[in-house]
Amino acid sequence: MNFSDSEIVASILTDRGYTATEEIQQADIIFLNTCSIRDNAEQRVKKRLQYFQAMKKKKPGLMIGLLGCMADRLKTVLLEEEQLLDVVAGPDAYRDLPRLLEEVESGQRGVNILLSMEETYADITPVRLETNGVSAFISIMRGCENYCSYCVVPSTRGKERSRDASSIIRESMDLFDQGFREITLLGQNVNSYSWKDGDEEITFARLLEKIAGINPLLRIRFATSHPKDISNDLLETIASHPNICRAIHLPVQSGSSRVLDRMNRKYTREKYMERVAAIRRIIPGCAISTDVITGFCDEREEDHQETLSLMEWVKFDYAFMFKYSERPMTLAADTLQDNVPESVKERRLTEIIDLQQRLSYESNQRDLHTVHEVLIEGDSKRSGDHFMGRNSQNKVVIFPKNNEKPGSYTNVKIQSFTSATLMGDATKTHLFV
Ligand code: SAH
Ligand code: SF4
Repeated sequence: MNFSDSEIVASILTDRGYTATEEIQQADIIFLNTCSIRDNAEQRVKKRLQYFQAMKKKKPGLMIGLLGCMADRLKTVLLEEEQLLDVVAGPDAYRDLPRLLEEVESGQRGVNILLSMEETYADITPVRLETNGVSAFISIMRGCENYCSYCVVPSTRGKERSRDASSIIRESMDLFDQGFREITLLGQNVNSYSWKDGDEEITFARLLEKIAGINPLLRIRFATSHPKDISNDLLETIASHPNICRAIHLPVQSGSSRVLDRMNRKYTREKYMERVAAIRRIIPGCAISTDVITGFCDEREEDHQETLSLMEWVKFDYAFMFKYSERPMTLAADTLQDNVPESVKERRLTEIIDLQQRLSYESNQRDLHTVHEVLIEGDSKRSGDHFMGRNSQNKVVIFPKNNEKPGSYTNVKIQSFTSATLMGDATKTHLFV
């Protein structure tokens, strides 16, 4: 999400004659785009800003700005007290940046942290930063109002808003025409996407269908799906379009219904398992990945065991795993006790990571000697003689170069693997789809 916001900011400023640079020493303005979802980030932001201040001593006139989720919370301390900043813009205030920068030039500090009910930046074509020319992100929604009790997003990024469907489809077509072959649609809960086009209600499933229809060579991914809202209609839409990827990110957070209830996730362990069974039934071969939070308020040992047993049952292909960290302005911070000791959180997290390591290894082992359609992204990091790409399940596949080009598809037969990567050879073998 944050990266996608940086691309919107780059677009707004490029229109005003600014250009983006990859060399920080060349920059006249430096923006730090922040996210406050998890812990530690605030300390890192402060350190980074102190480093920019040191740069400013050598380059007077250098402007420093803070963007994104932390804008509201940190503006007082970083801008007013410690004077580490010139500009502060919250996630809905990027259009105001040119004016804020003018304020700085006239000797003031530019601040806008207002959240909006409508802003989706629908008409802004993002400037693709750090692009491989093959895969790109498109933000289709902003904000969230699910109010999971641990989560700061509803208070930092505001109300849920869907973006105009026609602007998303146009952006997808433009990307395809520019040579991009994979787009990832982004939102905090893409399943609740909804846009009215005259009498037609465009749900997320209908949006996917429309984008999948642009060209069979365009792959579509999306994140994130909330388990409470992932419908059979969506699963059937994926199943009937080979270019919608067989990979669903379905954050479970905990395997215990009791903890899920405290988290305000609005589903139970059983309901989650029922949705996973539906994915397996409707989209055979679909990868499922997840997010897990360990050590949430009052989490008991048996809750933790339930998380482990659920992970084992689902056989997640991949997981992002976190220790719970209390965030300000959340329901949990206001009403629950962060009472699992740090050492217990750490031990549980280690057990979860170890288990996932094995599950990822076993998932890759099942791919040995099978053939996968891979979209080539570019050179492998380890060797210029190898390409790196992904299969539909979003697994990284490395193989020796032949005459292929980034942005094209090739079939790769898997010959070896680690828990993180599949390795193989391009093959003429055809796939049975
Ligand atoms: N909208 C997505 C998640 C966005 S935040 C969803 O509902 O799944 C990404 C992940 O960060 C979450 O899934 C959660 O696992 C983690 N996270 C959020 N708040 C957290 C907190 N306070 N402590 C630890 N992890 C947290
Ligand atoms: Fe946060 Fe829950 Fe919204 Fe995800 S769905 S962004 S975890 S409040």
